[in-house]
Amino acid sequence: MRAKDLKYFKKKLQEKRTELISVVQKTENYGRQIDSEVEAMDIADKASSSYTKEFMFSKSDTDRQLLQAVVGALSRIDDGTYGECTNCGESVDRKRLEAVPWTPLCLRCQEEAEQGR
Ligand SMILES: [Zn+2]
Repeated sequence: MRAKDLKYFKKKLQEKRTELISVVQKTENYGRQIDSEVEAMDIADKASSSYTKEFMFSKSDTDRQLLQAVVGALSRIDDGTYGECTNCGESVDRKRLEAVPWTPLCLRCQEEAEQGR
């Protein structure tokens, strides 16, 4: 991949990383806030609040996984392997990188991974 393109994707990925870090931190703060509020609640309220918390945590899991993917992509830029599928080594389609710059897999390997699940 050309240096100009790498720079372009690096910027995109860095912006996404900043965004995700702030989302993940906000979610964690919110979780702590719920914890202290729950202390003061009766049983029925506690039940609905733990549901909210579970939802927030599963959302934060997704964000965390995405953050890991973004960080991984940034380290592949530094390694000079960005834009190559980490499974088969083929170039990942440019359009695919535009849509999901943090993807480690080409479309074919991604589809295979999803089918294998
Ligand atoms: Zn592949």
